[in-house]
Amino acid sequence: MAAPFCHCGEPTDLKTSWTEANPGRRFYGCSRYGTNGACNYFRWLDPALDENMRNVLLNFHRRIRELEKRQNKEVSKFGRKMVSFIILGAIVFSLFWIGK
Ligand SMILES: [Zn+2]
Repeated sequence: MAAPFCHCGEPTDLKTSWTEANPGRRFYGCSRYGTNGACNYFRWLDPALDENMRNVLLNFHRRIRELEKRQNKEVSKFGRKMVSFIILGAIVFSLFWIGK
């Protein structure tokens, strides 16, 4: 389906809402949204969710964000370990060369 045009006469952007009221619900909005001269065009693409689906989606979204946060922490832990390893390696290497 082609994107509708907004009041600026531009094709709209298809975006996804992640508000508490409308998680995962797609909508068309002005592509200039957030900049000067954007219009207030707004149209839902998806129908409203019922209470149960809304809660399921909110829970999934929350869990994914938690997992992403945890994963980022693991990655930075790994990065710190690598840095320590490289520094240690450099110390050992320089001691070896000084000892020669
Ligand atoms: Zn517009």
